[in-house]
Amino acid sequence: MGRTEIKDIGEFRLIQRIRDRYSKPSEFVPRGIGDDAASLNFPPNHLLLVTTDTLIEDIHFTLKSTIPYLLGAKSLAVNLSDIAAMGGIPRFFLLSLGIPKGYSISSLDRFYRGVSQLAESQGVFLVGGDLAASSKFIINGVVIGHCPPDQVIYRKGAQPGDYIFVTGPLGDAALGLEILRKRGLRPSDFGANGKTRGKDKELLGIIRRHLSPPARVREGRKIAELACATAMIDISDGLLADLRHLIEESQVGANLWLDQIPRSEAFEKWAPLYHLRPIDLALSGGEDYELLFTAPKEILEDKLSRSREIDLPFYPIGEVTPHSKKLSLWTKEKKGYSPSWLGYDHFRGPPKRSLKKDPQHS
Ligand SMILES: [Mg+2]
Repeated sequence: MGRTEIKDIGEFRLIQRIRDRYSKPSEFVPRGIGDDAASLNFPPNHLLLVTTDTLIEDIHFTLKSTIPYLLGAKSLAVNLSDIAAMGGIPRFFLLSLGIPKGYSISSLDRFYRGVSQLAESQGVFLVGGDLAASSKFIINGVVIGHCPPDQVIYRKGAQPGDYIFVTGPLGDAALGLEILRKRGLRPSDFGANGKTRGKDKELLGIIRRHLSPPARVREGRKIAELACATAMIDISDGLLADLRHLIEESQVGANLWLDQIPRSEAFEKWAPLYHLRPIDLALSGGEDYELLFTAPKEILEDKLSRSREIDLPFYPIGEVTPHSKKLSLWTKEKKGYSPSWLGYDHFRGPPKRSLKKDPQHS
């Protein structure tokens, strides 16, 4: 059988195909794909949470350095992560694509399989979207979720004296991107279903953290249920950039303890080979999609010790200070530290400024 391209089957057959294969009937969705709008069921009295994110070919990814399955999973994961960062329960997903005409149907199927397997594992339903022909591959996702009003966690609310926590090791995703840039992706690295296949399992595990990040939905819910976090955000732009967002919204400052920032064993082994200052990958690299939250330390520990069934990884990495918008980084020897870059800003590009020279920090 020859290679079937998007242009061979056309928009309406494509929508039908997506509907048949990837949108599941559910009590939550009285009507999904196939009508002018989806109708959705929500638990009464919950707050509605809505978020959107866009991935663009040659800006966020290149088709030759990922595979369709992992790209599909990532396009959902980055949106789930934003609902997780509010303490919410993600439930519905809309996916709009700009697709190059020569893209193959089998690649598109693998892309949707990546989406739908993650969606199924998280109890999220694909309820709509839009398709258009485009010169580049463009992905826009919208996730709708909900949360009991007394559990929702915002970026504002951090209090001086709170500790700052993250839910897992940082830097792997940025290191994965560095490795991809230097080594490239090989056809034998991953199977069509996204499983690592090549021999360098550890290296591929790091690359996979960049290509298909986790969504800490379970952790976000547990943090919400413990009801002691004062503020939360997910780490998408980098620890420093996202902590900056949080302290700006909360009108507080922060001390960050560099030696306390968790890093994976694989990171410690490989990062020095790919970066001159590995700690900067963990500080500014971005796309780790771990959650960063603030909470009074004793209350968090007390609540965790009393709720034995809760298995919540969390690492204290600093403390909130009263100094509005001032972010200070400290080494183990209690010396101030200036990273070589601060994180990614889409409209300004990768900054070369050091923390000291940034007037916002003075
Ligand atoms: Mg976010």
